[in-house]
Amino acid sequence: MNLIESIENHRTLDLLQEANEITLKRHGSSITLERAVFLSWWCDKGDCTFCYMSSQKSRIKEPEKARRHVNSILAEAELTRRLGWNIEFLSGGYGSFTTPEIQNIAENIYDITGKPVWLNIGITSELEAYGKEIAGVTGAVEVANPELHNKICPSKSLDDIGHMLELAGDMGFKKAVTIILGLGETPGDLEYLWEMIEDLGINRVIFYSLNPHKDTAYENSPQPASLYYAGVVAATRIRFPELEIITGTWTDNLANIGSLILAGANGLTKFPLFKMFGTGYGRRVEEEVRWAGRSLEGTFTDFDMLTTGTIPHPKVEPFIKRYIDMCLNNKSEQNKD
Ligand code: SF4
Repeated sequence: MNLIESIENHRTLDLLQEANEITLKRHGSSITLERAVFLSWWCDKGDCTFCYMSSQKSRIKEPEKARRHVNSILAEAELTRRLGWNIEFLSGGYGSFTTPEIQNIAENIYDITGKPVWLNIGITSELEAYGKEIAGVTGAVEVANPELHNKICPSKSLDDIGHMLELAGDMGFKKAVTIILGLGETPGDLEYLWEMIEDLGINRVIFYSLNPHKDTAYENSPQPASLYYAGVVAATRIRFPELEIITGTWTDNLANIGSLILAGANGLTKFPLFKMFGTGYGRRVEEEVRWAGRSLEGTFTDFDMLTTGTIPHPKVEPFIKRYIDMCLNNKSEQNKD
């Protein structure tokens, strides 16, 4: 089957059928919950036209203050561990933390979760600072069409991303790329992405759908259609049976989850965890996974798991408590209805 033509000709059911069979055979039936852990709300580049940070740059006068407290980051790591979630990656806008600081945070997270963490910290040549606490390096490709990429992400050259990933591979790290659908790409652009996966030996692709942020160029753009999103993921799964595929969907698009799983997703991401935990939205994610015939690793609803665990450091405790209180508050708000 010509995969791109199948997307273009709306043969989505055929794609899903094949992708689902491949996924079950090669990856089994588990679906993971993935949490991107952010380091700050500031990015020195701030010029990617879809990005929330681009709308904030001129408003933030003291970038220092947009950095998250490290103990809050570690609290989040402990809670994801308790809930059986994975950390999708440690993500930082450019210029918010230094390499030794990021390395130190990653090492602390590794101590807490027992799992090496992925990085998504922008283009860097300072990878030699990292070791066993890092699983892999993510290149934020966003749009796999060089012409569009230059317009949408003028400060993140695709060549530089490629060089960083090559370096990461040489150093023994795994390699990932992020792709956002809905930025103006066409199905034909998948050829470029697939070449990139092949040439760079990419182990993991994270697909997101456009989340149109206020005060950005995409404010009034539609999110990509659910079947287009599923078709792109399914075609990629068929082309790369062993690839790890993570798909992101926001609370307003939970109905995408079932079709994305059939399309070949191994993991789900992009949820506001502490706002959704224990709510009908969290339960909906669990139902979507169940009705796709899969089993979910981790929980979106189990309060015993949330509240049971160790405190990595006394200074982290108040932050853990704050997140747990947010979740308990969700529960009491629901009970009022
Ligand atoms: S580099 Fe990343 S954080 Fe910075 S503006 Fe672009 S997408 Fe946003």
